[in-house]
Amino acid sequence: MTSLSSWIENKLLQLNVTETMDKQNGFSRLSFTKEEKAAHVQFEKIASELGLNVHQDAAGNTWAVWEVDHSAPTIALGSHLDTVDSGGGYDGTAGVLTALAAIRELKRSKFIPKKNIAVICFISEESARFGISTIGSKAITGKLNKQELSTMKDRDGVSVQQAITAYGIDFHSIDQAVIPIESLECFIELHIEQGTTLENAGASIGIVKGIACPVRLKVTAEGMANHTGTTPMNRRKDAFVAIAPLVTFVQAEALKVNETSEQPLVATVSTISLKPNAMNVIPGRVELGIDIRSVDDELKRNFAEKIKSYCSEINNKDGVTIEFTTLVDNDSVLLEDTMHDKLLQASESLGYQTISMNSGAGHDVMNMAANWPSGLIFIPCKDGISHHPAEYAAINDLEKGTRVIANFLQVEAGN
Ligand SMILES: [Zn+2]
Repeated sequence: MTSLSSWIENKLLQLNVTETMDKQNGFSRLSFTKEEKAAHVQFEKIASELGLNVHQDAAGNTWAVWEVDHSAPTIALGSHLDTVDSGGGYDGTAGVLTALAAIRELKRSKFIPKKNIAVICFISEESARFGISTIGSKAITGKLNKQELSTMKDRDGVSVQQAITAYGIDFHSIDQAVIPIESLECFIELHIEQGTTLENAGASIGIVKGIACPVRLKVTAEGMANHTGTTPMNRRKDAFVAIAPLVTFVQAEALKVNETSEQPLVATVSTISLKPNAMNVIPGRVELGIDIRSVDDELKRNFAEKIKSYCSEINNKDGVTIEFTTLVDNDSVLLEDTMHDKLLQASESLGYQTISMNSGAGHDVMNMAANWPSGLIFIPCKDGISHHPAEYAAINDLEKGTRVIANFLQVEAGN
């Protein structure tokens, strides 16, 4: 085992505040909890050991900076340390860890950068607690809507504001975490893939071109609740029966679209709320949530239109009204070609099996990419499993990711 891999193995445990990665219930470090804070404290410790300057910004992001020249540009790297409930210890952590490990490698090789290198440990990336994601990178890039944020609560009724205050941050000044465009030159995030594209391709490194953002729809069927025992079959307004064909329609149409489209599209009926949801009552109202993703924005919007016209086709059949609402419609994020090409080059020159690919999940880099040329590196995770205790990435792949970052930094900060 090389000393880099044992360092990675060791610091992986430290960032996860654990003695073993093999935990039946995984890791739970929800947004703005003492568990998230404990992980940030470990990040600070490791960064300090590496001789980096550490500070926390107004939103709670922890920065570790290898500062060589105050007037020189800064290359930033980073990811997050919070998790979903019973999540894995690699989602987010892999990016923070490999960024630190790359700096360690450069320092050990006596490399002296001509630019500053910053590692950002973003606060509160997961939406698991408050339903809002990437709070830290939104704050840095000026995308945080404090008004909207102040209305959000977790399932125990704790507001974001209360949680942030308990974390030790002044809610009213979190927008002061925003930094001017000129303070960074570019940004890179490494993340586990959370899919099986790399595994299937037998590749170790993926360089991401685009991040597919979702169109999210709500479809509501309104019929009439009534007694299951006394209402004859031909006298019902069963909302569930009326809307049920939509579920298989979405699946079948998405499969069909993928037969001919250049870019893949995924569509999922992912939530259902059924009222009154009682054994002896005909469903009177059903709400479906549909999530559609593709980096081809036109493709996903056309797909949403197909669902809309299907809904109007089935509207008012058997006295059930169907209503269609668009909840979210964000453009996909295309990462800058030059960053993509540089990272591809950094990986291929190390002899790693590397592919260009897209991401089906959002990450902090999405926000950063709006302000700075940004890149996203994927490493494989076993069977594509993530947000689950079984999430796993091999030390060997974390090491390869580290070397890609170090190689990139050597080129970019070396001249
Ligand atoms: Zn993540």
